Amino acid sequence: MNQNIDSKIFEGSCLCQAVKYRIESSPKAFYFCHCQQCRKLTGSAMATNIQLEIADINWLSGEDKINRFDHPGDRMFSKVFCKTCGSALPYVNENKTALVIPAGSLDSDLDIAPEVNIFWEDKASWYESGVNARCCEGFDE
Ligand SMILES: [Zn+2]
Ligand SMILES: [Zn+2]
Repeated sequence: MNQNIDSKIFEGSCLCQAVKYRIESSPKAFYFCHCQQCRKLTGSAMATNIQLEIADINWLSGEDKINRFDHPGDRMFSKVFCKTCGSALPYVNENKTALVIPAGSLDSDLDIAPEVNIFWEDKASWYESGVNARCCEGFDE
């Protein structure tokens, strides 16, 4: 049990609400990853992940709805997701050095923010111009 003073509580869920979790651990890094593999795994411009000290993932519900994919290769890529809705969920990485929370899965408030863009060289060609796109409160009418 991690008794680190910087330990925080992270609570989250998948979109369909079948899977819910609670984690208590200390964040080590919070980053955007623009590598091609993370773009594939998320279907988006980048992954937004919080890396924490290894801790237990307390599955409050839906543990039987979880699927895990570990990509074979030198760099390790894993994705844990809800079998019903496909939402990304937390996991311990393959070499068991870190617990990773996909930040979008969180329901609890955060007092930390991403501090780095990793694999910036690999970013989507449309990423930087897209960040400056106009903003609408809801759908673009
Ligand atoms: Zn779900
Ligand atoms: Zn990546």
